[in-house]
Amino acid sequence: MKRKRFLQLVKILAITMIALLLVACRNEEETSTKEGNSGDTLNVVSSFSILSDMIENIGGEYVNVHNLVPIGTAPHEYEPLPEDIKVASDADLLFYNGLNLEGGENGWFFKLVKSVGKSEDNIVEASEGVEPLYLADEEGNQEVNPHAFVSPKVGIQMTENILEALIEQMPEKAEYFEQSAADYLKQLQEIDEEYTEGINSIPEENRIFMASEQAFQYMTKEYGLKEGYIWAIDTDENGSPDQIRQTIEFVKQNQPKVLFIESNVDRRPMETISSETGVAIYEQSVLSDEIGKPGEVGDSYIKYLKYNLDVILNGLSE
Ligand SMILES: [Zn+2]
Repeated sequence: MKRKRFLQLVKILAITMIALLLVACRNEEETSTKEGNSGDTLNVVSSFSILSDMIENIGGEYVNVHNLVPIGTAPHEYEPLPEDIKVASDADLLFYNGLNLEGGENGWFFKLVKSVGKSEDNIVEASEGVEPLYLADEEGNQEVNPHAFVSPKVGIQMTENILEALIEQMPEKAEYFEQSAADYLKQLQEIDEEYTEGINSIPEENRIFMASEQAFQYMTKEYGLKEGYIWAIDTDENGSPDQIRQTIEFVKQNQPKVLFIESNVDRRPMETISSETGVAIYEQSVLSDEIGKPGEVGDSYIKYLKYNLDVILNGLSE
């Protein structure tokens, strides 16, 4: 009896040891594959959330994206953190929107690029080739409107630019990048059609889009909405008495059905416009410079475009 128990114990011990050994081997295998992959991954820095999301979708498992301007902060001015500088020095590619979104050649993005010693070969302008539209400032000067990505048509162009840059940097994965870009483009083309059809379905007299910043120009012009705004681009002067007076005038003349408000602006100037004109602020905010926080509405570029269209259609349709 005793001997039998002893043998049983040995058997159990042997099985346990084999199991442990197997687990150990598997772990080792996992770590080594992981190490192998990191050599095959592009380290990418991107200036703001919309662009970062697009790169992640097109680059998939072969890109590691570090986003600079956090959600909740306008991308026109930014002070890179020590972590950003560290990641940027090791990056294979640095993407920016361009069209002066990041303050142009003297803005924060190019300062970062210079400070980490990166060259032209490492940087990619995502909006390259996009026909710029201009903002008129109070002195009548023309300034490029950076918010081109609000239009799905521009998103299509940006996707093509991102694809080209990734293939150039990692030609051996060209087929993979082409496939994911094709899937992504298909979605954007569908959304482009939805914008055309949706906005055409709004009664003509209601096709007036009024928000705080003139950030929707590329979309309103493309799909046939008349754009109203309080200020042309975010500055310290947002909602000045002059801007308020002119906007009240615009609202009284054009009688928009509702006033839209962006998720990341001071609500007070629009509240003044609303109380002075009797036109209500629409309950759902629109998204302009950024996608939604993870888990919230519009938390990817595709969802951002769909969400904005929904809000516009809900707000302006009868
Ligand atoms: Zn802006």
